[in-house]
This record gives sequence, C-alpha cells and structure tokens, in this order.
Amino acid sequence: MKKLKILVTGGAGFIGSNLIKSFLKKNSYHILNLDALTYAGNLSTLADVEDDPHYQFARINICDQTTVNKTVNDFKPDWILHLAAESHVDRSIENSEAFLQTNVIGTYNMLEAARQHYGGLSAVAKDRFRFLHVSTDEVYGSLGKAGLFSETTPYDPHSPYSASKAGSDHLVRAWATTYKLPVLLTNCSNNYGPYQFPDKLMPLVILKALKGQCIPIYGNGENVRDWIYVSDHVEALHKVISEGNVGETYTIGANNEKSNLELVQCVCKLLDKIKPNPTGKPYSNQIEFFTDRPGHDQRYAIDSTKIRKQLDWSPKETPESGLKKTIHWYVNNNKWIEEITRN
Ligand code: NAD
Repeated sequence: MKKLKILVTGGAGFIGSNLIKSFLKKNSYHILNLDALTYAGNLSTLADVEDDPHYQFARINICDQTTVNKTVNDFKPDWILHLAAESHVDRSIENSEAFLQTNVIGTYNMLEAARQHYGGLSAVAKDRFRFLHVSTDEVYGSLGKAGLFSETTPYDPHSPYSASKAGSDHLVRAWATTYKLPVLLTNCSNNYGPYQFPDKLMPLVILKALKGQCIPIYGNGENVRDWIYVSDHVEALHKVISEGNVGETYTIGANNEKSNLELVQCVCKLLDKIKPNPTGKPYSNQIEFFTDRPGHDQRYAIDSTKIRKQLDWSPKETPESGLKKTIHWYVNNNKWIEEITRN
C-alpha cells in the first residue's frame, strides 16, 4: 500500500522526535523532518531511525520562506504536522525575538507554503490533505483554584512564548477561514518523557539531583501544571490528524495536576529508589527556592472530554508509570545528555 507522505517540522526536538519514531512504527507513513537544529534540536535524538528508508531529514529554518516553499512543493506532503517552535518560557522572557520570528513568521511561512501546495492538488488529494498545528494550553492564561481550560476558553496569553503561540494559532484559524486550508489545532498541557532538552523542569530536576547540585524551584513551588507523558500526546496527535474534524481544535491533557513542589518531591522519592544518592541522603534535601519567574501563571488544567469522546483517545501512562519511565531513561542515557548539552 502507498504510504502517506508527512512533513513534520521541529522533528529533532522533544515531541517531534517522539512523534516521528512512533509514526514510523505504524508502517503507513513516509516522513520528511524539517528542522533548523537550534539548541533544542539534535540529530543524535533520531539516530535510531536515520537509516529508515521511510525517513528523511532536511536542515531548514522555517523563517526562510523561499526554501520552505521549495521543500513543500518538491516533497508534496499529504499531511503537515507543524511543531517547530521556540518553546521555553524563560528564554522568551530573556529574549523574545526568536519567538516572534519562528513561532509567528515561521508559522505564517508554513501556512503560505501549504496554501500554495494545496491549491495545486487534485480533488482527491485535496480531500486527503491536512495541516495540524501543535500548540499549547499556555495560550489560555492562568486558572484560579478551580476550573479547566477547554476548546472554548478565551485566549489570554501572559508570556512572550504563549503570546507568540497564540498569534500562530490565530494565523492558522485565519488561513482556514480565508483560504479554506484544511487545518486542525491542538492545545496540550505540559509534556514530559525521553529526549526533552534538560533546561525543562523534569529533566532539569533529575539531572541536578544526580549531580548533587541544588534543585531549583520558582517562588513557593505552588504553581500547578497538568502533566502528560509525551507518547500519550503523540498518540493524541495521530488521532487528531487521522480522524479529527477539519477546522476544529482539540485540547489534550491527562488529568494529572501537580504543583511544581509536589512534582519535584515525587521525582526525588522515585530517584531515591531507582538510583539512591551515594551520600545516603534523600534527594529532596537538595531542593532550594528562588525568586519567582515574572508573570508566572498560577495554574493550568485541561478538560479533554472532546478528544476522549469524539476520537476515543485516553492516556495510557499513569502519573507513576510515566515518571518511572522518564527517570529510568535519563539515568540510562548519559551519552545523549552529553551530546545535546555540548554547545
Ligand atoms: P523543542 O524545543 O524540544 O523542539 C523544537 C524543535 O523545533 C527543535 O528541534 C528546534 O531545532 C526546532 N526549531 C526551532 N526553531 C526552528 C526554526 N526556525 N525552523 C525550523 N526548526 C526550528 O519543543 P517541544 O517541546 O518538542 O515542542 C514542540 C511543539 O509542541 C512546539 O510547537 C510547542 O509549542 C508545542 N507544545 C509543547 C509542549 C511541551 O510541554 N513541551 C506542550 C504543548 C505544546
């Protein structure tokens, strides 16, 4: 059977690499990974699929409109999954320009390339074509103690990162309404799992703990996030692009709310069992509190009823199983950590 041609942007990053490996295992897709290889993207992450005949890589910056147009035109994708982004809130506070360039202008370039490609397709190919924009729950702002974000929550982004992602979401919807591009959008909660760049909370905590360094927590550690294991997010993205209703949005989450302090304590406790501290002390002794991040959203939590009911998706990992897998992976993958943090 002929394989669908999928163009993935940002496939050398955390979620993109997990997605490419999972989609290749389904044996139905030929994938082109388009990635600029910023600090967050590294080809060592994809070493186990680089020889797969149904996988190819192109080092391209999505801000380069001419090259993006040519690549889309030459590859002729059936689906585009757009994940490339600057993704770290702290980095966006320090310097937001790359966030506007990649997340807003880069998304615009992807949409324009998709629009031109879509315009030249046959009726059958048009029917098959999809553009999935992968976004975040951070576009909705902050919740108080109660309530959940859903597909109908108004946008209220607070950080340069979330504002740039909100901007990109609006562009995607505008291209659907104005040019009838068959788009889908997802807004997912915080991901964790293998291959996450170690400046994000979960790997940061694991690696600082193992190195005997202080484990930093912003403010009082009471900010709440709704954690999802990356392969559950990837499976949700597969459901959305293959079965989702064109033009619609799906919020994705695993009902796993934890304050940052709770999460860090859980990681420390599991690490105490998986790789006990040579000093004999519990890793939680290394926790230290630092001045809070400016504009730090208090709480995120997702109502994922729509994707659960309409597309029959649910997360497979429990909070405990996901955390254990993640800790084991970082404990056993020193070579990858050295590789990705080299520059
Ligand atoms: P990541 O930072 O790990 O990876 C981003 C990838 O995009 C990297 O490989 C990087 O090289 C590439 N990239 C960056 N700028 C580029 C450019 N100009 N041109 C081409 N490639 C470029 O990010 P991630 O955590 O894997 O997130 C992927 C997507 O999912 C992002 O759009 C993010 O907003 C969204 N998202 C992430 C989370 C999360 O918790 N990580 C949650 C919800 C949504």
